Amino acid sequence: MRGMDRLLELQEIDSAIDRLTHRKAELESGQELGAARAALEDAESKLGELQLALDAVGREQSRLEHEIDSFEQKAAAEEKRMYDGSIVNVKELEALQHEIASLKERRSRAEDELLEQMVRREDLEARIVTAEQGAAAGREHVETVGGEASRELDRIGVDLATKAAEREAALPAIDEELLELYEDLRPQKKGVAVAALVDGVCQGCHEKLSALELDRLKHSEGVKRCEYCRRIVIFG
Ligand SMILES: [Zn+2]
Repeated sequence: MRGMDRLLELQEIDSAIDRLTHRKAELESGQELGAARAALEDAESKLGELQLALDAVGREQSRLEHEIDSFEQKAAAEEKRMYDGSIVNVKELEALQHEIASLKERRSRAEDELLEQMVRREDLEARIVTAEQGAAAGREHVETVGGEASRELDRIGVDLATKAAEREAALPAIDEELLELYEDLRPQKKGVAVAALVDGVCQGCHEKLSALELDRLKHSEGVKRCEYCRRIVIFG
């Protein structure tokens, strides 16, 4: 049948057009850019949370520092009162001693808490550095993907035009009936209607045809089909 020899070429062109069209739709739907943007948002919100936590630690730190300061001043004032001779009553002195001890204890507890906050601050600051790097990488990725997508879409436009011209040029050489079968088969066979037979193996389904069948195909006129997948086969 006329054009059998051009059929594989047509198949290659159509497969290329399918791939380009698929990629074009993928790029136009912006999935990669959308995913990159979502990742950036994640990274930025993580960074924001860490910064809020750091602010809270800062506030707690200065609250504790004030508290320590105030305990210290109170204790100093009480100590001064104890030794300036203004108190002579033993019970009052004992109460004062007790008050001073309690103020010192509270100061020591506040100092422990302050130390904990300082450890938290160090940990948060280290995590913020990492999160900032993550967000910066995310921003860069969004810009790269966005720029690459538009450049790739331009290239695809050119390639699709080239392939369409090649297809037009290939069609007249192929028998109409054969072309009809080819077009019918394509959607049923995941876009691949024609396959080469290489060493008796159909390149469409990768089954090896029987020797008997191969012999029969070799000597038959007309369209040859794979006995397994029913694709049109061309002896390679
Ligand atoms: Zn097959």
